[in-house]
Amino acid sequence: MAQAQRFRALLDLCKRRGFLFQSAEIHGGLRGAYDYGPLGVELKKNIAQSWWRRNVYFRDNVVGIDTSIVTPHNVLKASGHVDEFTDALVDCLLTKERFRPDKAPPINFKQDKGQSSGKISIISPDKETAKLWEQKIQNELAPGAVVTRQGKEVLLHVKEMTTTTYEPATNSPFLTDERPFNLMFKTFLDPIDPIDRVIKTTIENDTSDARTIRDQVDNVLRPSTVYLRPETAQGVFINFNQVMRTMKTKLPFGIAQMGKSFRNEIRLEHAIFRTPEFEQLELEYFTAPWESSAWFQYWQKDRLAWWLEHANNKADIRTRNHEADEMAHYAKGCMDVEYKFPWGWGEVEGVANRGNYDLTQHMKATGENFEVLEDKPIVSSHLKETALITSVPQEPTRFVPTVIESSCGLNRALLAFLCDAFQQVQEPGKESRTVLKLHPRFAPVKCAIMPLTGNAEFQPYVEKVARSLRRQGLYTVIEAQKLRIGKRYYRHDEIGTPFCITVDHQTLEDQTVTIRDRDTAEQHRIPITDVSSIINEKIWGDEAPELE
Ligand code: ATP
Repeated sequence: MAQAQRFRALLDLCKRRGFLFQSAEIHGGLRGAYDYGPLGVELKKNIAQSWWRRNVYFRDNVVGIDTSIVTPHNVLKASGHVDEFTDALVDCLLTKERFRPDKAPPINFKQDKGQSSGKISIISPDKETAKLWEQKIQNELAPGAVVTRQGKEVLLHVKEMTTTTYEPATNSPFLTDERPFNLMFKTFLDPIDPIDRVIKTTIENDTSDARTIRDQVDNVLRPSTVYLRPETAQGVFINFNQVMRTMKTKLPFGIAQMGKSFRNEIRLEHAIFRTPEFEQLELEYFTAPWESSAWFQYWQKDRLAWWLEHANNKADIRTRNHEADEMAHYAKGCMDVEYKFPWGWGEVEGVANRGNYDLTQHMKATGENFEVLEDKPIVSSHLKETALITSVPQEPTRFVPTVIESSCGLNRALLAFLCDAFQQVQEPGKESRTVLKLHPRFAPVKCAIMPLTGNAEFQPYVEKVARSLRRQGLYTVIEAQKLRIGKRYYRHDEIGTPFCITVDHQTLEDQTVTIRDRDTAEQHRIPITDVSSIINEKIWGDEAPELE
C-alpha cells in the first residue's frame, strides 16, 4: 500500500476505533484541533507514563514539577521569547494561504519551446475557483497580464521567468514579502475587555502614525498581558531555587515536566504532527559546566535508546545534529531525534545543551541568584563519559549551572508510534486485517478477557481475573459479546491489545485460562492466579534505563 494511502487508513482507524476525533466536528470542526478519544487518551497517557517512569522514578536525582500554562510577560521577555520566538511568514494574495517561506509551494513554470517566455500554472480546487482567480489576477494582482484558463488550471503568461519579476526567495507568484511573526498566543488577564482599552487609547492618541499608536496600545495593555507558554521549560527555570531548597537537591539533578504548550503555527500539518496546542515531555538537567558535555552525550544516547526500545522498525528512527546556523545563539549543541513519517523525516524530540543562558537571563531580570557553590568541585562518581570532562576547578567555585534539555513532543511521539505499529496483515484466503503492534507498555488496553460463551458459570472467573489485573493498574476490558472468539481477537489486534485471556470449560475444572499473544497468535494455558504477574512481567520486565 502506498505511504499516503496507509496514512489515510491509519487516520481512519484512529477515528473509527476512538483514538482521535476532529475537535468540534459537529460544529464544522476547528483546523488543527483534535480530541483524543477513549483509546487515544490511554495511548497518550501510557507514552507519558513510560517517559516519566524512566526519567523520574528510575533516578535518584530527578524530580517532577507542574507549572502554570498562563505565563506573565516578564518571564517570556527575559527568556527572549517575546522578541525572538518568531518565524518568517508570507501570505499568498491569491489563495489567502499562509506559509513559512521555505515551505511555500514552488512555481510551476511551463516554458514555451525554444523561447524564454512561458506560463506559470496555478491549480485551483475547482472550475469556479479558477474563474474567480483568473479575474482576481487580471483585476487586482497583475492588471494587464495575459491570463488564460483550462478547467481548474489558471495560466499566467509571462515574457520571461526572471528572479526580478517574481520574488526569488518565495517561489510563488503572488506571495507577500517576508515578515516576522511571533508564535506565542497572547491574552489578557483583565476584567476590562482589552478591546475597549485599545479603542480608548487609539481615540485619545492624537497622531495618525500607526507605530506610535501601536506602542501606546502595547503600553496600556502590558500590565495585563500574559501568554500561553510556548514550551514548558521556562516554568522549570523560574522555579530552580524553589526546587533546590525544598528537595535539597545537589548537582547534577533534573526537573521533569509534562504538559501543554501552545504555538500559533503558520502552517498546521499532518494531523497531530503540528498543531497549535500540544503536549511536551521535557527534562531540564542541571550540571556543573565541566561535566556538561559528558551529560549532553549521555542524554543524547539515553533518549535515543528510549525511542528504539519502543519501536518495531528501528531503521525509521535516526538522529540529526544541528548545524551551527540552525541553533539558538546561546545553544552549545543540539540533536534532533527524527522519525520517518509517511511524508518524510520529521523531528519528534530535541536534545540540547542550552548552556546557562536561561538561568542567567532570569537572574538578570529578577535579581534572584541561581548560582551554585561547589566547595570541592569533583566529577560525579557515577559518570561514565569521563573523556568529555573539561577542566575541573581546584578551588571552591560559584557558577550558574549548565542545562541539558530533552524535549519530546507527546503528540508527535503518539503519531510516530502509531505509524510504526500500523500493520496490514494478509493471510491466505482471508480478508486483509489490521494489527496495531504497539509496545505493550503503550497499548491502550492491556488485556481483554473473553468468556467462551455467555454462560453464567464463567462469570465469577472472568471477574476474578479482571480484578487481579485492574488492581495492578492494567486497563482491562471484558469482551462477552456473542462474537466468535477469533473475531473478538481480531478486534483487539486492531487496537493493539497485547493479551487476550479466554475463560472456557477447562477453567471450571482446573482454574486455568488461555493467554493469547497478539504478535505470535500463540496461546498458552496458565493458572488464573498467575495472570496478573505474567502480564505485568511481559509489559515492564525489561524496563530499565542505563543509569549514568
Ligand atoms: P519544528 O521545527 O517541527 O517546528 P521545533 O524545533 O520548533 O519543531 P522544539 O521547540 O524543539 O520544536 O520543541 C520540542 C518538541 O515539541 C518537538 O520535537 C516536537 O516534538 C514538539 N512540537 C513542537 N512544536 C509542535 C507543534 N506545533 N505541534 C506538535 N508538536 C510540537
